[in-house]
Formats: sequence, structure tokens, C-alpha cells
Amino acid sequence: MSDTFFQPVSGMDLPRFAGIPTFMRLPHVPLDHARLGEVEVGIIGVPWDSGTTNRPGPRHGPRQLRDASTMIRAEHAVSGMRPFEALRCADLGDVGPNPADIQDSMKRITAFYDAVIDAGILPLTAGGDHLSSLPVLRSVAAEAPVGMIHFDSHTDLYHSYFDGMMYTHGTPFRRACEEGLLDPKRVVQIGIRGTQYDSEDRDFARAEGIRIIPIEEFHARGPDDVMAEAREIAGTGETYVSYDIDFVDPTFAPGTGTPEVGGPNSYQALQVVRGLSGVNIVGADVVEVSPPFDPSGATAFLGVSIMFELLCQMAANKA
Ligand code: MN
Ligand code: MN
Repeated sequence: MSDTFFQPVSGMDLPRFAGIPTFMRLPHVPLDHARLGEVEVGIIGVPWDSGTTNRPGPRHGPRQLRDASTMIRAEHAVSGMRPFEALRCADLGDVGPNPADIQDSMKRITAFYDAVIDAGILPLTAGGDHLSSLPVLRSVAAEAPVGMIHFDSHTDLYHSYFDGMMYTHGTPFRRACEEGLLDPKRVVQIGIRGTQYDSEDRDFARAEGIRIIPIEEFHARGPDDVMAEAREIAGTGETYVSYDIDFVDPTFAPGTGTPEVGGPNSYQALQVVRGLSGVNIVGADVVEVSPPFDPSGATAFLGVSIMFELLCQMAANKA
């Protein structure tokens, strides 16, 4: 290809520690860029963690993920997929949140994603805490409810926190169901575990028809079998993929606010994304990477490795 604009900078040309770290070393194409209309997948940072109820930090996630993503090379080791040749990918920059105002931040995020969707771009988001997914879904599912394959230790289906606070990182998918953004019958939550406040979230899931695959079932059946069921639940319709890094065991992903022990290892963390083959992905996110709890950078590196796997699935879908 003669036009190399959308190709990432290779580590063969410029050492990986040099240069300005955009996602995957792709070009930075902000929303007012002349070539925005050519972009097929836009990687977007949402540096926002105002929905966090305990240990904050994911507001610093996008910057650390960009830095870690300089380690990502152009070709998938197993499938041979070269996503940056199959799709025109770009770093669309960060959504500027308002750290003092949750509602205003969500409006800003939705407005940004509305522009992305209008331009026909598939969004791949780097959070941010998990509340970030709600304003993104308000754009992605503006026309009709979507299905969702959700990797997490937690359902994020609680009604509210702190006596009526409806918007936290423990409530986004409850709101998304109420707002008609998700089709609960096409939602599957994988990896759920840890001590609980009560069963209110899972009672809601049961009543709505959301399928929860707890970690005990995940380990007993294995990732391939679980993902076969997930693909069946999502079906052929439009499906959002939401990946909370605390899905992964804290041995492999300590850099997150709400870790839960007994989770998948870092290989299984990739294997489940490979199991998304054929899913009609209309958007995806990796959230809850928290640099203050990630001094080694291992969590961020796992996060961008998951993002690369997601990109490869999006590229395979197009092919
Ligand atoms: Mn979550
Ligand atoms: Mn979680």
C-alpha cells in the first residue's frame, strides 16, 4: 500500500521507546481531522473515573495504556491477522470529561461518540471506570437495543449506591437495561465472583433474562465451551463487548480498583476474546485499568493485548 498514513509506526523503523505514544503507534486523528471519514476503527480514551465507589485511578488508564501499547506489533501470533492492513485504524484521542460533574461528563462522552458513530467508525474504548460504558452505549445503541458480551468479576447491575446514587461503576448496565440500550435476553456476563453486598443485582438479572456465568462454571467448563454459549446468546444481532480488566485474576491484573481472587489467567484472558469469532461487534471497551495500582505496568500491558485481540476480531468480521 502506497499510502502509509494509517499504518502504525514499526519498531523496526523507530524504537518502541521513542516518539509520542498514540494507541498502537497509530496516527492521531481527532474529530476535526481531514481524514476522519476514512477511519474504520477508532480507538478512544475515556480518562474518567467519577463513577468509582472505592479505589480511584482509571482516569489515568488511557495514558498508561497508550504507553504500554507501543509494545504491540502488527500481526496476530495465531491467526496471522494484520488488523491495521485489514481496517483503517486510528487513535481518535481522548474525550475530555468534567471530573467535577458526572452528568456533564456523560453528556460529553455521548456527544463525542455520536460524532464517531455518525462518521461510520467502530469505537474501541480504553477506560475509564465501568460507568464509561453507559454514555458510550447511549450512542452505540441509540437506534435499537444491542446484545452484550461482558467480562467482569461483577455484574454492575446494582440499582444504586449511597442512598440513591444511580450513576456509579456498579450500576451502568442496570441503567442501560432501563434505558432500552441493552436487550437483556442477548446479554451474557462471564466471570462473576467475589463477596457480595446482597443478591439484588443477580435477582434483577434473573428477572430480565440476563445470563450470568459465574467463575466456578467458567473454570469447570473452560473458556472455549463458555464462549460457544456466549456466541449463541449474542446471536447474529449487533453486540457490544465490554471487558472489565478485573475479570482477570489479580495475580495477572493487580492494577484495578475492585480486584477479586480466583479469576482467569492472562492466557485465558486472551482466549475468551478469540472466542468472539463471528460476533457482530458494534463497539468494545476495556475498562478499569488503574495505573496507581499497577506499578509494574503488567495490567496495562494485558489491557492493550486484549485491545489488540478485539481489533483482530473486528477486522476478521469485516473480512
Ligand atoms: Mn465492571
Ligand atoms: Mn468489575
